[in-house]
Amino acid sequence: MALLTGGCECGAIRYEAEGAPLDAGWCHCRICQRISGAPAQPWVIFAVGDFRYVKGEPHVYHSSSFGERHFCGACGASLGFQLRENAREVSINTGTLDDPSIAPPRKHIWTRSQVSWFATADDLPVFLEYEPGHEG
Ligand SMILES: [Zn+2]
Ligand SMILES: [Zn+2]
Repeated sequence: MALLTGGCECGAIRYEAEGAPLDAGWCHCRICQRISGAPAQPWVIFAVGDFRYVKGEPHVYHSSSFGERHFCGACGASLGFQLRENAREVSINTGTLDDPSIAPPRKHIWTRSQVSWFATADDLPVFLEYEPGHEG
């Protein structure tokens, strides 16, 4: 599959990934809500070996005891999430892809904290909390 590319709003940070995303979904957790400022965060997963930042280095925020968030220190764009140790996957926020259309969500996770007035028009699987691949 072709190289997938993306980056932050201001262009200071660019990334690329090889291969199709391993997974994709919506996260309704409170951390994603606070970090994105939105009711839910769409994400895509790549193997860490298939993903690299090619311009700039993201700032890192430790969002939990085991997770870290990547963001642009210049424009504040929220880029993604990965485990702080032994990460095998990186979760990238779908809206930062140059073509977000290539990675439609396949599921909802952390719907325990789904905002009451927010719903998407789909019949995707729903997980109340953690579903492997995205947490923290
Ligand atoms: Zn930026
Ligand atoms: Zn989340």
